[in-house]
Order: sequence, then C-alpha cells, then structure tokens
Amino acid sequence: AKAEGRGNHRFFVPEMDRRMQSRRSLELDLRRAVVDGEFEMYYQPLVDTSDGQISGFEALLRWNHPSEGLILPDQFIPSAEDIGLIVPIGEWVLRQACSLAATWPTHIGVSVNLSPAQFRTGDLVRTVTTALAVSGIEPSRLHLEITEGVLLEHTDETLKILHSLRNLGVRIAMDDFGTGYSSLSYLRSFPFDKIKIDQSFVQDLFSGSEALSIIRAVTDLGRNLGMTTTAEGVETAAQLEQIQKEGCSEVQGYYVGRPMCAVSATRLLTEALPRDGV
Ligand code: C2E
Ligand code: CA
Ligand code: CA
Ligand code: CA
Repeated sequence: AKAEGRGNHRFFVPEMDRRMQSRRSLELDLRRAVVDGEFEMYYQPLVDTSDGQISGFEALLRWNHPSEGLILPDQFIPSAEDIGLIVPIGEWVLRQACSLAATWPTHIGVSVNLSPAQFRTGDLVRTVTTALAVSGIEPSRLHLEITEGVLLEHTDETLKILHSLRNLGVRIAMDDFGTGYSSLSYLRSFPFDKIKIDQSFVQDLFSGSEALSIIRAVTDLGRNLGMTTTAEGVETAAQLEQIQKEGCSEVQGYYVGRPMCAVSATRLLTEALPRDGV
C-alpha cells in the first residue's frame, strides 16, 4: 500500500503542478483583462408567456480573450471569485447593464447575476444605488439574480443586504431554483419577487421523470407566494407549449432567443415595435 501511495504521489505531482500553473496564469490573465477592458456583456431575452412579448434581458458576462477568443463565464468566474476580482467586475456589469437598459423602452427589464463575494466584500448596496443613479433607470426595472450560494453563508448579513436592496425598489430573483439542497427553505427566509426554475427541469420535461410535476408545483407555489416564475433553458416548441400550459410567467432559452451583443438586443426591441405607416 505504501509503494502504491508513493506511485500515486509521483504520478500526480506534475499534473498538480500543471494545474496550479495554469490556474496562476489564468489569474494573471484575469487581472490584465480587467485593466485592458476585455469583458463584454451579452443579453438574452426573457419572454412573457401571456403575450409572447420580450419583457426583459438577462445580462451575461463574456471574456473576449486576445488569443483564446470568447470565453464563457463558467470558465473564469470561479477564479474571479477566488481572487476577489468578481467584485470590480460585478460593479462594471451592473453599470453596463443599467446604462444599456436606459436606452430601452421603460417596460423592458434587465437582470443581473450577483456572486456571493459581492455580498461579502464591497459595498453592494452603494454599488447598485450608483448604477441606478448614473443610468437613471427606474429601480423596478433592475432584477438581481442570486443563487443558493449567496444564501448559504453569512445568512443574517446577507438577508440585511437583500432587504436594503429591495428597499431601493429593485426586484430580487432566486436563480437556478431546485438545484440546491434548501431551495424551499430560502423561499421562507426571503420574499423573492421571482423564481427562476433551473434549466435541468425543462430539459427533463418529457423524459418521464418528476420534472413536470416539479415545474407544476413550483409554478403553483410561486403564484401562492406572490412570486413570478421563469422557466430557463427552453430549447424547443414542445417545451415552450408545455411550460405555457403549466402557467409559468416567463420563459428564457435558445428557442425564444440566444444571448446576443448589446447592439443586437437593442435592435430586437426596435424591430418588435410597431412601425409607422406599415
Ligand atoms: P445562469 O444565471 O443560470 O444563466 C443562464 C445560462 O444558461 C447562460 O449561460 C445562458 O447562456 C445559458 N442558456 C440560456 N438558454 C439556454 C438554453 O436554452 N439551453 C442551454 N443549454 N443553455 C442556455 P452562460 O452565459 O454561460 O452563464 C453561465 C453562468 O455564469 C450563469 O448561469 C451565471 O450563474 C454566471 N454568470 C453569467 N454572467 C454573470 C455575471 O455577470 N456575474 C456573475 N456573478 N455570474 C454570471
Ligand atoms: Ca441567472
Ligand atoms: Ca439560472
Ligand atoms: Ca446556472
């Protein structure tokens, strides 16, 4: 057993080295990206199921890497969290999203994802207040999305911040609902405005699993608690039809619109407006 252990050890050292080195270079890369402004926001439409109209967009972060090309958030946000860089990045995201929303019709909302680190460090309430003031948008148009990760730690302090945010007039959404261990109990600890049902339930809708019953139950629950529900990851017409039947307020997914650059998102809104003389 001892020899075996040594063998494993020898085997894993170079691998570990490589991983730590690439992690370190990712961190240096990230710091440079912040300075050089290599981030870009994409916007994915949210569609109201009652009339099929766009009700808002979710702001999704992208990294335009000079040599790697477009990098998706799952590849760099965990590192940005670890080294605290998600705080200044998140501040930039909020300002970008609110400024763009200021150019849209006033009934169109903008959703922004928040990281746990933004609740721990930095002055989130002031950051949001500033983004709202600079852009001049109505606070109710800004929807802040949080996952269980935010509620897992420092719960009292987190709840205080959430209440302060709510007092500014912004809406708060529980993201990726149903994926964690305690989704239900969090609904009791804070009055969310919106529940976003995780895309895994939509994906399993027709697989004969419990997904359909769960979507149905969560939609009813939301209605009873005065919260709207959004189904994420709608990729087909059949999924959309079923989701509409279940009474979800809103849908999001490739079938109704992919994440797109700011110019395309704004153009989509303009095209959707009735044109004069047509
Ligand atoms: P999320 O908040 O759950 O965002 C939805 C993700 O699902 C997005 O991935 C979106 O592109 C993807 N998606 C949308 N519709 C579909 C669909 O029909 N099918 C499939 N398979 N996927 C779909 P994305 O942009 O890669 O973002 C991943 C995660 O990164 C987000 O998950 C969010 O947790 C995080 N994130 C993105 N932007 C930010 C940000 O600005 N700040 C923070 N803190 N996190 C962010
Ligand atoms: Ca989200
Ligand atoms: Ca989500
Ligand atoms: Ca997610």
